[in-house]
Amino acid sequence: MNVIGAILDLLFPPKCAFCRRVVDGAAVCRACEKSLPWTKGEESLRTGADELVCAAPLFYEGTVRDALLRLKFHGADHLAPPLGELLARCAAERFSGEFDAVTWVPVGPGRLKKRGYDQARLLAESACRLWGTAPERLLVKNGDNPAQSGLTDAAARRANVLGMYEIAPGAQVAGRRILLIDDICTTGSTLTECVRTLRSGGAERVFCAVVARTRPEEETQRAGAEKS
Ligand SMILES: [Zn+2]
Repeated sequence: MNVIGAILDLLFPPKCAFCRRVVDGAAVCRACEKSLPWTKGEESLRTGADELVCAAPLFYEGTVRDALLRLKFHGADHLAPPLGELLARCAAERFSGEFDAVTWVPVGPGRLKKRGYDQARLLAESACRLWGTAPERLLVKNGDNPAQSGLTDAAARRANVLGMYEIAPGAQVAGRRILLIDDICTTGSTLTECVRTLRSGGAERVFCAVVARTRPEEETQRAGAEKS
């Protein structure tokens, strides 16, 4: 490490993304490494009736949920590198050699202005740094729909994102195998809409990766609530 790096570490020691204990270069402290709600085996790959294929290292609950909310709504952009590292590890295990482009689910222009950054883009950049590459802007969002997090019903979430995305001007999509990165997957509505958009732009395949997903039983509950 260079001198400036060493001084910065002394002044702002790296902290665990989840409990904020000081860590020694790792994304996660040892206590969290043991206690976090990691997805195990097949749980780390969400495959559903919607044909979405999405890798996720963690379940969206407890301290994981807190960390992602801090990243998304409370300006904690310093959480993108450690969280992006966990996402990258899981995506590499699941899709190694299967994609030739990396992109992200963009936020709308109004929200970007308010927040100052696009959290999914930061996660994609963090993951790509580890892979020695860079993400490409392949999608743009048309305006700002109401936040998905404010909608619990799956049908309402699907309707809320329908037609919200399009291929970015000049983006090369046709024939490519794309890894699409976002922070969270709950009902999968946003990712499904982005995959549909990329496929209609000629993408050969689209794989998704997020930091955290909801548990399968929560998705079933949502689907059940939708039918009744
Ligand atoms: Zn920790």
